[in-house]
Amino acid sequence: MALRTTGLSADEALHALDELKANDVRWREGRAFTLTYHGGDDVVALAEQAYQRFSSENALNTDAFPSLRTIQAEVVDIALGWLGGPPGSAGFMTSGGTESILLAVKGSRERGRRERNVTAPNIVLPTSAHAAFEKACYYFGVESRRVPVRSDWRADSAAMADAIDDDTVLVVGSAPQYPQGVIDPITEIAAIAADRDVSCHVDACMGGVILPYLARLGHDIPPWNFAVDGVTSMSVDLHKFGYTAKGASVIAYRNKTLRSYQTYVTNNWLGGLYGSSGILGTKSGGSMGAAWAVINHLGDDGYLRLAAQARRAADELVAGVQARPQLLLRALPDTCLVTFGAADAESLDIFAVADALWRRGWFVDKQGPPASLHLTVNAIHDGKIAEFLADLDSSIDEVVATAAGGREAAYGTVE
Ligand SMILES: *Cc1c(COP(=O)(O)O)cnc(C)c1O
Repeated sequence: MALRTTGLSADEALHALDELKANDVRWREGRAFTLTYHGGDDVVALAEQAYQRFSSENALNTDAFPSLRTIQAEVVDIALGWLGGPPGSAGFMTSGGTESILLAVKGSRERGRRERNVTAPNIVLPTSAHAAFEKACYYFGVESRRVPVRSDWRADSAAMADAIDDDTVLVVGSAPQYPQGVIDPITEIAAIAADRDVSCHVDACMGGVILPYLARLGHDIPPWNFAVDGVTSMSVDLHKFGYTAKGASVIAYRNKTLRSYQTYVTNNWLGGLYGSSGILGTKSGGSMGAAWAVINHLGDDGYLRLAAQARRAADELVAGVQARPQLLLRALPDTCLVTFGAADAESLDIFAVADALWRRGWFVDKQGPPASLHLTVNAIHDGKIAEFLADLDSSIDEVVATAAGGREAAYGTVE
């Protein structure tokens, strides 16, 4: 598209954008089981208004914007509360789970270099740990040592212990892991890391906000946070079950020394002393302001209510999958992630089912191995599952009748 000589009016520009959105998934109606989270119309509206207040404010230098320093400090404190952060624990707001994980890997590489002189670092992680760790290894020149998960999809801590050597700088567990939604044996993983004096990151991007509330609702939640000895850092995404605007996550450390390994400072240019806590330079205050507003608007009661709604919907979906002989549930979810495949992959192409669902307006993740559909159930889906299951049935019928094959799809795209 070439730049127009005379600009559009503001109304024209906004109208054109609305038209561009015409074919997007209708997430505000609960049609997306991935990528978006919806804590109610009031919550979405507040996030958008608060974002607007800070969209051009720049968190690169909080001397100019003390508001953003306070916002970050207060949001991180609240997140540390969810994560069981001990006195002295500390963190930063980041742009998302990927940035939090990049920083955890970078920090552990730095720690290994400075404290133990490790020059060819590796990290040990289960095959279920998020792709962002792979990206971090690629970016930062760290070897990724993936260890197969157990038959229940949880990390095999004994096999992980065997994979650790003197060059290991980080051991990873997830609460829960994304693909099958189960919580790794964090106590065991943290113990093998502590045993070797190696950093241990728990990726709670998905579970960090909702797990405390599921525990309060009476669900049996295994140890998963800083209460476990040996856990040195954690990631929690506010833009997932925190229901804030996109671009908000927290990276948290057990103490400030561990945190110091992630920050960057230089004066090796003509522009003076430059420091930044994370990957970004200029950083919009929008997602920070939105996070502060939504978290304070919802409060403890609000998060408890939303957790109950999300879990009720997830339980209904799990029961629906279990009741359908053509489908196979991969695991009973520890939070609200529901993954299933075809009971007989020869007779039902599960990716074709996803395509048929999309023709009916529902967007789900295709993943594998093994070929599966992955649904992130959140508060908006409470009351929507019956309609989804009806469309799932008609989609399965259509795929079986036409012997359709599905397209592979990616969790993220590159165009
Ligand atoms: C979403 C997610 C990430 C990545 O977070 P982004 O916000 O998409 O960058 C990492 N780990 C887990 C377990 C996740 O669910």
